[in-house]
Amino acid sequence: MPISNIEDQSNRYQIIWDLGRRCSYACTYCPPHRNNKTSAFVNYKSLCKSMDSVAEYAVLYDSFRKKPAKKKLSFTGGEPTVHPDFFKFLKYTKNEYPEFSRGLTTNGWFKNSVLDKVLSLTTGGTISYHCESTTKQKKQVISNAIVLREKYKCNVMFHKDYFEECIDVCETLEKNSVDFIPRIIGDDHPDDKKSIQLKQKEYLEHRKKTQPSGIYNAGSVFKNPKGLHSGELIERAGMKGYRLGTVSISEKHGNFFVADKNAKAIDLYNLVLHVKKVVYQKFAINLEEEIRFVGNFG
Ligand code: SF4
Repeated sequence: MPISNIEDQSNRYQIIWDLGRRCSYACTYCPPHRNNKTSAFVNYKSLCKSMDSVAEYAVLYDSFRKKPAKKKLSFTGGEPTVHPDFFKFLKYTKNEYPEFSRGLTTNGWFKNSVLDKVLSLTTGGTISYHCESTTKQKKQVISNAIVLREKYKCNVMFHKDYFEECIDVCETLEKNSVDFIPRIIGDDHPDDKKSIQLKQKEYLEHRKKTQPSGIYNAGSVFKNPKGLHSGELIERAGMKGYRLGTVSISEKHGNFFVADKNAKAIDLYNLVLHVKKVVYQKFAINLEEEIRFVGNFG
């Protein structure tokens, strides 16, 4: 068959680019082909040379197609951001080959100066949240995931020993409109998987009992003041179940407001103001809204 008669049905030309088996983390479940801390980094010159070949091959590939393929680079590792020339190389690909998108798979732990580069030089990707890192690192990962949410989704790596933490992370991401996917890890032993699934079931049952579901609700209404729980303050102020027009405070959880089917936004707004006033009068604490009101409620 002449080669011109062959049509590739896929619409993408994708290169998964492994930038080295080095990582800023040391997860115990990480296989050595991902992070051996010893393999050498490829130097900048070689990276550029490889990219030139990748682009050259893309031109050849397109010449056999009816329509040009989408060109994608997906950088992975280890952790690609630890490569000393990663961002310099991204700049090179951006300037020389703008037809290629530049995706990144990362553990999301980097400081603000790196975050700026990730924002400006990559076109999207995935942040994987791993529990086996320090509290400070994990805080930074969540904050980075929120800043990058327009371009990045987040994998929450569920480990049976950190189950509650992963649930909290999912809830924080959800509240901040970060697209996330829970993933099970550390399940090489069949009992691990079973134990995670059992905990998942227990959690869902607990959530059903403690938080309203199947009714209209405004989600979590107030941020937690440092070291305190808004829900608890509202309950201690005696406001559980309090109603104002078409909106009331949940009987199950003080920081959940429940709306009637035809509820009015103005009722929610007034209830929020009222709760803030009562909590301030009782405890001299200013509650700050987690939800945002759009429009004129004055
Ligand atoms: S973040 Fe990923 S690559 Fe890095 S040590 Fe953990 S599992 Fe391995």
